[in-house]
Amino acid sequence: MNLAVIGMQFGDEGKGKIVDFLAKDFDIVARFSGGSNAGHTVVFKDKKIKFHLVPSGVLQGKIGVLGSGMVIDLDKLKREIENLKELGVTPRILISSRAHIVTKIHRMQDSFDDEIIKIGTTRQGIGPAYISKVRRVGIRIADTFDPEILQKKLHLIAKFSGGVFSEKEIEEEAKRIRNAVMDLKDSIEDTEIWINKAIDSGKSVLFEGSQGTFLDLNFGTYPYVTSSPTTVGGVSSGLGVPPSKIHQVIGVMKAYTTRVGNGPFPTEITGENAENLRKRGNEFGATTGRPRRVGYLDLVLLRYASMINGLTGIAITKVDVLFGLDSIPVATEYLCNGKIYYYPPASIEECKTKYEYLNGFSSINDVNFKKFIEFIEKKLARKVKIVSYGPLRDETLIF
Ligand code: IMP
Ligand code: MG
Repeated sequence: MNLAVIGMQFGDEGKGKIVDFLAKDFDIVARFSGGSNAGHTVVFKDKKIKFHLVPSGVLQGKIGVLGSGMVIDLDKLKREIENLKELGVTPRILISSRAHIVTKIHRMQDSFDDEIIKIGTTRQGIGPAYISKVRRVGIRIADTFDPEILQKKLHLIAKFSGGVFSEKEIEEEAKRIRNAVMDLKDSIEDTEIWINKAIDSGKSVLFEGSQGTFLDLNFGTYPYVTSSPTTVGGVSSGLGVPPSKIHQVIGVMKAYTTRVGNGPFPTEITGENAENLRKRGNEFGATTGRPRRVGYLDLVLLRYASMINGLTGIAITKVDVLFGLDSIPVATEYLCNGKIYYYPPASIEECKTKYEYLNGFSSINDVNFKKFIEFIEKKLARKVKIVSYGPLRDETLIF
């Protein structure tokens, strides 16, 4: 059985913990899109470990695959592997020969672009690397084997970036990339062939989503999105695993909503309530350290995420952050331009939210907690299969 774990909101739903928890039952954990914009925090042996590129399932000793749909900053990847080794974990990873490389030029371009378009990106060079890919000048891992091709592509990327890069800078960048690829060469693989063969021989795969449904390039709150698919369709396009081999899809939702960066957020709250929630939930970006915007649960978005991803079950995280509240507002409908919506329309900037107020709860044994879960199940027509009520592996309920 192969399972995808997908974020249902704006990222940071706690997928890292859920993947870490589930990974023990799988042979392989594979990422299909994005790059070091992702930040998964997992608590391991009393230490907080931040993952950006390496699938967090490697902590369970599983093989981590970085799929063709990813854009990879090689130096960051090397550093992450080194950090894991220092913690006593030697990760087993495979990197797709077709994955694209994030160069220094892309990183600079990202910061430059975001000053103008103000998406509030993570400035990891993700958007520009995907632009190079679509423009057909991107550098795949496999393209670095031939120094001439690498040099040629770097020149093209530099040219299109509009920046001024000297011959020497381009040469240095080529050298840096080649050295990094040399260091990682034993991990490079035609992963789409490898993973399909592995599945055909009975191995099971957990597909680890990054970011969330509303940062998806197609289905998110465009233009305030990332530059890759974050929804389940990305598993097939990013790993070369056909839909028929994705058997279950778990959507991960936080018990409230957060968002980093700009863009519409209908249930956002500000002021003292927001401060309190941010503090209680420790809502600061794992990649950038930015304070996350916070708000109430939004079932309109979650209903859409359930549909788009064909969820077979739901994992709710951070319910402990809500412990002790008197009442929990939950958005169940939008009112946009005088019309009621149960699913978000293409533009939600002008939408107002209609709330239902649920009774608060103080623990997972509280009868109101059970009602909270049942309410979500009814509204989303999906079963809640996992509840996480703390960062540790054993602070998890399974239904
Ligand atoms: P980019 O992916 O760096 O281009 O950023 C685009 C948008 O997605 C920005 O609003 C980021 O804050 C957001 N974003 C990207 N990756 C993550 C993530 O892993 N968690 C939360 N937000 C993210
Ligand atoms: Mg994150």
